[in-house]
Amino acid sequence: MKEDILMEEFYTKEEQEEIQLQLNELINACPKCLAEINKKLIIKAFKLADRAHKGIRRKSGEPYIFHPLAVAHIVAEEIGLGTKGVVAALLHDVVEDTDYTVEDISTMFGPKIASIVDGLTKLEVFFDNTESKQAENFRKLLLSMVEDVRVILIKLADRLHNMRTLDSMPENKRLKIAGETLYIYAPLAHRLGLYAIKTELEDLSLKYEHPNVYEEISKKIVESSLRQLSRINEFSAPINEKLKEAGYEFEIKGRPKSIYSIWNKMQKKDLPFEEIYDVLAIRIVFKPLPGMSEKTQCWTIYSMITDIYKPKPDRLRDWISVPKANGYEALHATFMSSYGNWVEVQIRSERMDEIAEKGFAAHWKYKENSDQESEIDNWLKRIRELLENPDDDSLEFLDDFKLNLFASEIVVFTPKGDKIIMPNGATALDMAFEIHTDLGYRCIGAKVNYKLVPLSYKLKSGDQVEILTSKKQIPKWEWFDFVTTAKAKSRIKQAFRKERKIFINKGEKILEKHLTEKKLSINSKILRKLQTHYNAKNKDELYFKIGKGLIDLKDASKVLSDKPYNKWVRYWKLSFGFGNKSDEKPKVDKKKPLLLTDDKEQFNYTVANCCHPIPGDDVIAYQDDDDKLILHNRNCKVAIKLMSSHGDRIIPAQWESQKILSYIAVIKITGIDSLGIVSKLTKVISDDQNVNMRSIHIESHDGIFEGVIHLYIHHTKDLNNLILKLMKIKGIHTVTRQERQNEKRH
Ligand code: MN
Repeated sequence: MKEDILMEEFYTKEEQEEIQLQLNELINACPKCLAEINKKLIIKAFKLADRAHKGIRRKSGEPYIFHPLAVAHIVAEEIGLGTKGVVAALLHDVVEDTDYTVEDISTMFGPKIASIVDGLTKLEVFFDNTESKQAENFRKLLLSMVEDVRVILIKLADRLHNMRTLDSMPENKRLKIAGETLYIYAPLAHRLGLYAIKTELEDLSLKYEHPNVYEEISKKIVESSLRQLSRINEFSAPINEKLKEAGYEFEIKGRPKSIYSIWNKMQKKDLPFEEIYDVLAIRIVFKPLPGMSEKTQCWTIYSMITDIYKPKPDRLRDWISVPKANGYEALHATFMSSYGNWVEVQIRSERMDEIAEKGFAAHWKYKENSDQESEIDNWLKRIRELLENPDDDSLEFLDDFKLNLFASEIVVFTPKGDKIIMPNGATALDMAFEIHTDLGYRCIGAKVNYKLVPLSYKLKSGDQVEILTSKKQIPKWEWFDFVTTAKAKSRIKQAFRKERKIFINKGEKILEKHLTEKKLSINSKILRKLQTHYNAKNKDELYFKIGKGLIDLKDASKVLSDKPYNKWVRYWKLSFGFGNKSDEKPKVDKKKPLLLTDDKEQFNYTVANCCHPIPGDDVIAYQDDDDKLILHNRNCKVAIKLMSSHGDRIIPAQWESQKILSYIAVIKITGIDSLGIVSKLTKVISDDQNVNMRSIHIESHDGIFEGVIHLYIHHTKDLNNLILKLMKIKGIHTVTRQERQNEKRH
């Protein structure tokens, strides 16, 4: 144990007094901390922190101990955590910055507090690292957060205090801190329902990143505040009276708009300050009367206001019956004021208001009286599920997770009427995965509000969704085109990885058997020969192709009996990437045509949106800045332009036989409208084993019909066969492939 050092050696008299004052304030800020045993624990933690940070001062010159004291104060007062949280907050920098270890803290304060401090220390490391390392550590952070959400709450308090005192941080770190705050901490605060903290973090980041904008907007707010106030008073006066008559205790206030949110709207909607700021918004917070539910009372108050002002019916938002995923509850409505402007009104009970401001912590406070699973619990559960998938790419995971933080939600229902919250933009397939992984794997479509829809159908709030499955269904590459949730994506990837492994194992066995028959065994020389011959980039790809039946080993013996390459040839082959180790990215040899195989993992290529080439088409590949290959039809206008301007980045490409991947092709059909022609068309297409219909759109007028059909196909050969078959249907006039279409893939 380190020796005890008296405070006097390090602090001036004033500083000592100030420290003592802040410690007292901290203890008073936390109601639970007033109990003698808790008070002692806090003082013990303070003493350890003080000793650990002895003699250290922040850049501003003030003693370092002010920082943990302030963080603990935020944790107690603004977030509302109890003693353990306050103690961990006091100790949050001790392990990171001093000689004390997590074990020391465990001995002194027990394993729970030690593990929170440990989580906080790891977090510190997370942001000091390079990007990829960060992502991995971020996963660890989320894991510790799911274990104990206090880690992230204390970190948010730490960040808030650092932002409030950004001038005492090292200058070279300031912009980085402000950027990070906006990137991850503010969204996290939002997702945890810590509205006040989120707003302050955003405002402070803006203040640092765009000081001029910040100054200008805050000046304008001050200038217009008086006018604003008088309009609010005028609007709320009659409401005031009505509510008093009804016996309510309540408060009506103007809803403050944060500087950041105003700026954000100005940017997004390209509007001047006035048009955003002048939209009035008020909030009514009431103490519920006994004997009636809060929900009923919100609607009663709403109804009272409609007696005074006309409501805008399409602007009513009911977050009471279905709270937001971060736990937010309120009734939002818009009314026409007497001077001809729309006014937004939020109606909340005191409890709802506290949840809206303090979010997570308040949520726990009220949860004690109810056993209902809250939306926050559901969210944490979802993160836990995501984290359970260990070999997911962590950078991708970070992106997906961030998407999840920002997504607004919609509410959909199961056939039994159970509520499911999905991110905005989610499809029927996303929902299938949300309910159960196997439901996702087997999903073939859905019924939305009793109507049949495809997997890619974008859900809308209020939809009732029945997932349709088939035992024969298996995950498809095309699914990546329209799944949006991190969960669905990772589950589909998982399925493909599993499938690939199975084929690799199968392929290895087949090859082994084949070689044994020839009295040979697998060795690196044989593998190299086979890889070269069958155009496999590595051992796994060779096995995969054999296992999947894409390689016939009939001519293998001939290949193996071939004389080895002479030295020069071998050197040349190696230098162009044939001897790649399996974990290396295959290099692109621009002098030889690129072979487009089924194995999409080998080359990072996508098909261009402008011309949608499919296997069999004459194609070229364009290598973009990220080394990604984009395939264009050779006669595509964009491709022609690229060839003339970026000739050095163009690589000729050739399709290999494709049996796994499908591509979208569009055909246009015209003909004479006759009874049953549509069913004849769809029958021919669905009987065709080599194509899959994605959508069909038929319009008929004056006896003539025009149809556009989107298909998933493997090769132009298949498409040409189908076109021939369609031409044979009586009444069909033309069947053409549409080379260019503007449809976007989603
Ligand atoms: Mn800190």
